[in-house]
Amino acid sequence: MRLQKAFLPTVKEAPKDAVLPSHIYLVRGGFITQVASGIYNFLPYGKRVLDKIRTIIKEELDKAGCQEVQLGFVTPCELWQESGRFQKYGKELLRFRDRKDNCFILGPTHEEMMVDLVRNRVTSYKQLPLNLYQINLKFRDEARPRFGLLRGREFVMKDGYSFHADEEDMKREYALMEQTYRKIFSRMGLEFRAVDADVGAIGGSASKEFMVIAKSGEDTIAICTSCEYAANVETAKRKKPAPPVEAPEFSNFEPFYTPGLTTIDELSEFFKVHPYYFVKAVAKKAIYDEHEEIVLFFLRGSDELQEVKAQNAVGANELADVSEEELEAAGIVPGFIAPYEQQCRIVLDEDLKGAKGLICGGNRKDYHLINADLSHFDDALFADIVQVKEDDLCPECGAAIQLKKGIEVGHIFQLGTRYSAAMQATFLDKDGKAKPFVMGTYGIGVSRLVAAAIEQNHDERGCIWPREIAPYEVCIIISNIKDEEQLAFGEELYEKLAQKGVEVVLDDRADRFGPKIKDFELIGYPYGIIVGKGLKEGKVQIIDRKTLEKTDSEKEQVFEKILEILGY
Ligand code: ATP
Ligand code: MG
Repeated sequence: MRLQKAFLPTVKEAPKDAVLPSHIYLVRGGFITQVASGIYNFLPYGKRVLDKIRTIIKEELDKAGCQEVQLGFVTPCELWQESGRFQKYGKELLRFRDRKDNCFILGPTHEEMMVDLVRNRVTSYKQLPLNLYQINLKFRDEARPRFGLLRGREFVMKDGYSFHADEEDMKREYALMEQTYRKIFSRMGLEFRAVDADVGAIGGSASKEFMVIAKSGEDTIAICTSCEYAANVETAKRKKPAPPVEAPEFSNFEPFYTPGLTTIDELSEFFKVHPYYFVKAVAKKAIYDEHEEIVLFFLRGSDELQEVKAQNAVGANELADVSEEELEAAGIVPGFIAPYEQQCRIVLDEDLKGAKGLICGGNRKDYHLINADLSHFDDALFADIVQVKEDDLCPECGAAIQLKKGIEVGHIFQLGTRYSAAMQATFLDKDGKAKPFVMGTYGIGVSRLVAAAIEQNHDERGCIWPREIAPYEVCIIISNIKDEEQLAFGEELYEKLAQKGVEVVLDDRADRFGPKIKDFELIGYPYGIIVGKGLKEGKVQIIDRKTLEKTDSEKEQVFEKILEILGY
């Protein structure tokens, strides 16, 4: 392509609300433009990247035996009422009515649609297994659309759904999809991790997220420095920590006057006791379908509460903060909460099981209890509710855990019969009995990947695209198009490379060299060939976008050289 004719509106100004590199560079580089909050247009360069990502996904999925379909984006509410999600999904679900007053939604995910497609069409175990996917628009009316393509309202997702006669076959497919996803993200040239993920309060089935490692990631993942263990902190486990120091010596179980001391730091300083030997209380409001209640979570003073784990431990839809007034109204003394004698529900962290010689709140203003003993608490009250931290030990091999930030670009899930049973999608098994399909579901954030690739691969000048998903591989920059020799050489090289199948663009714009090289760096083509003044002496330069290193080349050799670099 020749840039003189290209629709490539690069701009100097970053969007006002942009804080992340991918958002800034994708807009400035002319890949995307914003339409409305969380809604974007893809311009030719953005579309090329999107299509490359789509192609890689499609090729690998098709190789793994999946079949592509395309379902309606506008979907009838009735299906969502059948599954029970119409009420549950909340405000992210965009609902509307057509002229005949029929209720519809814009699909945020397509379990219901896919189950509806398959039911009554697949009726026998002989037609199983089946894995169908689409690469299509999704709409989620996110509360806070932000970071450009990373969290849009309208976005492109690959969503796949598999149907099986039994659990075992679903697990086989799940493992195949994990392998397939690894191939997909490796081909894209991304550094990623597959991590254990939260399966929500329903629990039971397994789930993995694929995280692109990037400082700006919204997720925190715990990775073992020695073995393969990796998990989202929302679900990460750790080996039971050894006491960091010897236990303090107390003789009696008694209240101790601690005026105005409520934080673990203040108390640790006051008692000269390590935070490990304190019992920290965190009060939350647990919200359920029909009611809400205060829950008190207790953990060691050296640990922090992991809210997703805590939420799952009590099976709530959500945990919210609770005010001091609400606590007092419930007879709880804020800042001095003991695990003893509470009227409300309590949950203790597993690491406190059997623990003795602790300091905890006194259930009385300005008092703490020393020598507290939790060994007589009922086992049922204990759950894993702590946030794994840096240098905790791996639950599998005992080596140190490292925390990293990641962007969720994929999610695979052993779904089971949740939707098929609710929607009465059944097949006849070998024994002639009607059974609900056992399902798996597999998502990839296609448009999010465009941004995630840049979050991982950029510098202060712009994008650095991995080869496989770059809009083009090489940009030939003609320094001065008025110089006939430069123009002719650039044109000829461009034609030759294009003939070879290289994805090449020719920067033949009338601009000065300065803005052209700036655009090259902003857009982030993997390689550039600079045709400038040196041509008079028979020299051109090859520039590597990643390192910004320039290498001289004889003009007669540059064609061969670039082909060699690109591996053609
Ligand atoms: P998140 O936790 O980031 O909100 P999710 O867990 O709700 O995502 P899934 O329902 O698992 O998302 O959807 C599958 C994939 O779609 C995700 O792994 C992610 O890559 C992508 N995705 C989800 N929400 C968005 C969004 N608002 N904008 C762009 N991509 C998204
Ligand atoms: Mg997810």
